[in-house]
Amino acid sequence: NSFIAIKHHINGFPVESDFELKSQPLRLSAHPGSTDIVLKNLFVSVDPYQINRMKTLSPSHASSSVTPFITPGLAISVHGVAEVVDSDDSKFEKGDIVEGIVHWAQYSVVKAGESALMKLDTLEFPLTYHLGILGMSGLSAYVGLFDIGRVKEGDKVFVSAASGSVGNLVGQFAKLHGCYVVGSAGSDQKVALLKEKLGFDEAFNYNQQKDLKSTLTKYFPNGIDIYFDNVGYEMLEAAVANMNPFGKVVVCGAISEYTKSMSRKGSALNMVDIVYKRIKIQGFLVSDYLNVFQDFKSKTAGYIRSGKMKAVEDISVGVHNIPSAFIGLFHGNNIGKKIVKLA
Ligand code: NDP
Repeated sequence: NSFIAIKHHINGFPVESDFELKSQPLRLSAHPGSTDIVLKNLFVSVDPYQINRMKTLSPSHASSSVTPFITPGLAISVHGVAEVVDSDDSKFEKGDIVEGIVHWAQYSVVKAGESALMKLDTLEFPLTYHLGILGMSGLSAYVGLFDIGRVKEGDKVFVSAASGSVGNLVGQFAKLHGCYVVGSAGSDQKVALLKEKLGFDEAFNYNQQKDLKSTLTKYFPNGIDIYFDNVGYEMLEAAVANMNPFGKVVVCGAISEYTKSMSRKGSALNMVDIVYKRIKIQGFLVSDYLNVFQDFKSKTAGYIRSGKMKAVEDISVGVHNIPSAFIGLFHGNNIGKKIVKLA
């Protein structure tokens, strides 16, 4: 069984030499009486948050983290779609297609509860959709916009990393909800996708802007009601400067801060502005919202069927390509949900 491990903790931008492809013999049958399930991993997810699990464990990290840290040399747990090869758990049988926590590996031996394993209720859509538009990315967009942002028809919504997995779905949901939507992304090709294929009202390449604050003022002459933040730092500061009174900042992620080896000193966030404009800033974790997963999934499946939402995916092939797929997230190489096909 081949799998990807980190060689050591990573405290900045990840590079290929931080990773190794390891292999170990694998038992392809479950231990009788063990409730083990042996999975052949078909598709695995590649997500920015994993870098935060790869850092050197500090006491503040340890107390704030809800996902376990990654140990160098060991297989790395991730979301995936897999086929059951053998099962000693009566709820699963050989041939079932499942989603849940697997590994950056060809095979995984798991227990249903620990891996939140679910049989796919439909094979109507490509299996990859269960990692993106119908999976955790979609749920993050949905929960962030509707539960945290409490978006209303007519709201003016800004989303960063808008061509990424979560970002493009935030924009699509917001458009379906009757909002004015602007996205930022790192290339002209991504900007074109947002405007021409995904129905965003406007989009801009943030790498080509001299001053993000005035760029946002240009796109939001009447202010921003909801900022869906995927990147943090300068973009967050520029968005806050353009927020309307009672605006909401939905903090989904802060990718520009994940790879800073030193935490940034101070903050240029204008706190007085936040007070006087009564801005609400709230983070969230998608894992707290699994109770709305089925609701979200059936609504989104309906939108896909009727052509109202589109999946944007970016797929690499082979376990050995997982590190480059992962590293690429921090350089904007992906368009849409980054996935690695294993089998
Ligand atoms: P994406 O598919 O958006 O991939 C990451 C993208 O981020 C890149 O393609 C790149 O696009 C952009 N990016 C990379 N580095 C920077 C930078 N320094 N500044 C600005 N943009 C950058 O990933 P996801 O959709 O999976 O995740 C998006 C965000 O949501 C992440 O912060 C992630 O951690 C978070 N997240 C949070 C969840 C939660 O429960 N709170 C759940 C899932 C995701 P570009 O070319 O536009 O720069």
